[in-house]
Amino acid sequence: MEHARDLTLLPKAHLHLHFTGSMRPSTLLELADKYGVRLPDALTAGEPPKLRATDERGWFRFQRLYDAARSCLREPDDIRRLVREAAEEDVRDGSGWLEIQVDPTSYAPLLGGMIPAVEIILDAVDAASRETGLGMRVLIAANRMKHPLDARTLARLAVRYADRGVVGFGLSNDERRGMARDFDRAFAIAREGGLLAAPHGGELTGPASVRDCLDDLLAARIGHGVRAAEDPRLLKRLADRQITCEVCPASNVALGVYERPEDVPLRTLFEAGVPMALGADDPLLFGSRLAAQYEIARRHHGFTDPELAELARQSVRGSAAPADVQEKLLAGIDHWLTG
Ligand SMILES: [Zn+2]
Repeated sequence: MEHARDLTLLPKAHLHLHFTGSMRPSTLLELADKYGVRLPDALTAGEPPKLRATDERGWFRFQRLYDAARSCLREPDDIRRLVREAAEEDVRDGSGWLEIQVDPTSYAPLLGGMIPAVEIILDAVDAASRETGLGMRVLIAANRMKHPLDARTLARLAVRYADRGVVGFGLSNDERRGMARDFDRAFAIAREGGLLAAPHGGELTGPASVRDCLDDLLAARIGHGVRAAEDPRLLKRLADRQITCEVCPASNVALGVYERPEDVPLRTLFEAGVPMALGADDPLLFGSRLAAQYEIARRHHGFTDPELAELARQSVRGSAAPADVQEKLLAGIDHWLTG
């Protein structure tokens, strides 16, 4: 057997990474110490917590841990550090383009309001991009547990910052709550403002939630979308329209969406021609970063190097990166494969 190529050297785009969830565990401990925050044991154990988000209690527990981590981000310096470290980790894993997802609502109270929070985050992204050389952009995500009017306000804010690095609009949190179509106006505002519609769907609930994202929100990309695998017609639709699914295998296993890494239907989506962008989702809670997702495809699904290169190409093509950045990354992928 030929020596396996290093997946951390495979150029790729990272399209599914949440803000607080990108934090290094060691940074979380330092910030908790700085502010005298007593973290839940699950966050200090030194290994990823056991979560089971397939029921609402499990999801609630996951959100509680996420909130505890977020409560340690209090000052602009903390935000800058978080973003810089997320960029550094991505570069280490071969990422050439990162789109980080954030709901500024959660940070606004401590940072002086929504506008200052967005400004601080975008400045931090700018600085991290300059320091690390990694191309970075931001998706502003609404929370589906909140009122659709809040989402509309956020969409307007996101559009206002389109020329400052916001490229997309998302929708996150428990898919079992509320209907996608409740957020149709917010997504219309985002799309009309030139932003990419990238809501979460097909993670905690089945193919119907992916269809809702396509029909009601005119999604250009789907956060997760893996459970589309249960519906061949939907797979064909995603493939025909080349809608990229931001698939996060380690997250799926950590949250109990699938029992084992080999159960995540990477092959089904790949063979159906559905473009994927593998992502880490919340490495702080799930214990693995970007390259590890490709490692799962290799080890548990038998993806060959040419197939892994194709996955990387799909991530680049699904990104909001400008044409010249995409070309450079695609050339780098060819080089990885043939060099
Ligand atoms: Zn997510």
